Amino acid sequence: MVAEKLGIEKEAEMKERTEAHAEQTAEAERAAEMKKAVDEARTFGYEKLMQDCTLCPRACHADRLSGRRGYCGQTARIQAARAALHFWEEPCISGKEGSGAVFFSGCPLRCVFCQNSVIAEGGVGQPVGVEQLAAAFLRLQGEGANNINLVTPTHFVPQIAAALRMAKRAGLRIPVVYNTGSYERVETIRLLEGLVDIYLPDLKYWSPESAERYSHAPDYFETASEAIAEMVRQAPEAIFEEREDGTVLMKRGVIVRHLMLPGLGMDSRKVLRYLHETYGNRIYISIMNQYTPMRNFESFPELNRRVGRKAYERLVDFAIRIGIENGFIQEGGTAEESFVPLWDGTGL
Ligand code: SF4
Repeated sequence: MVAEKLGIEKEAEMKERTEAHAEQTAEAERAAEMKKAVDEARTFGYEKLMQDCTLCPRACHADRLSGRRGYCGQTARIQAARAALHFWEEPCISGKEGSGAVFFSGCPLRCVFCQNSVIAEGGVGQPVGVEQLAAAFLRLQGEGANNINLVTPTHFVPQIAAALRMAKRAGLRIPVVYNTGSYERVETIRLLEGLVDIYLPDLKYWSPESAERYSHAPDYFETASEAIAEMVRQAPEAIFEEREDGTVLMKRGVIVRHLMLPGLGMDSRKVLRYLHETYGNRIYISIMNQYTPMRNFESFPELNRRVGRKAYERLVDFAIRIGIENGFIQEGGTAEESFVPLWDGTGL
């Protein structure tokens, strides 16, 4: 009995030691990553932006260089989950060869219905250095990507700008796409001038109530619309290239996406009317019906269904009636769970 008790105590002690060792190792790895982040911030000159972060409208003032995290959930060290060819964007972005999509972890918006919530919440992804990111851009170009597609990049803009400069010096020639939920500050978008060719922003809500309910951002519309105005200023006209095989690819311009949500038909109409009255046919508008509930929403029962086919058709008819000519619509449901890529660090 006594021997058995001693054995159990020894086993518990060993377990405790192993756990303490694992915790120390993890802590040492975190410290090493932050050291790299500090070195990079000094080298590329964005130390101040990371020490008191106001990159997005959340304006957390987090000292991300010391490893702290704001609303986006990210420190100053880039974290990304995948860099690979991606075929599910608008046809003029994906083309036949695919778009070179880099999916960044974390998100300053964090909508309750997010289809990529595991990556948006920062649960997956790996640390990536600025140089490593530049190398990933060049590798994607080498694989035949039609563009570099930066997905949810807002909270890493200074790091991405440094990586883009480095990659461009080393021969990156394909267009760069900035793919965002649009909860952005104009000052941050200005850091990208001359580096980004195509802006692919969402305009999700018109009403502050919906923006608050689903994204905790009642100022979403005014903030996002100002950011989009800056994007249009930087890329004021759409330029396309038509290839011999008939593929048409965007080289420059702005495509604003609007994902229709169940029960928000009026909100959608106001968004489309605003975009058309403000920009006419200078921008492209992508009207999306791919909303799919990824789980059961107890607090948002209205989100537990997809958008009806008729409701979507009525929205498309409305867009045509008010004169939108440059647009993309989705035929049939494209929202299968299998469209969510694997967040396994591919390409990083
Ligand atoms: S980027 Fe992140 S830390 Fe910076 S203000 Fe936005 S949410 Fe806060």
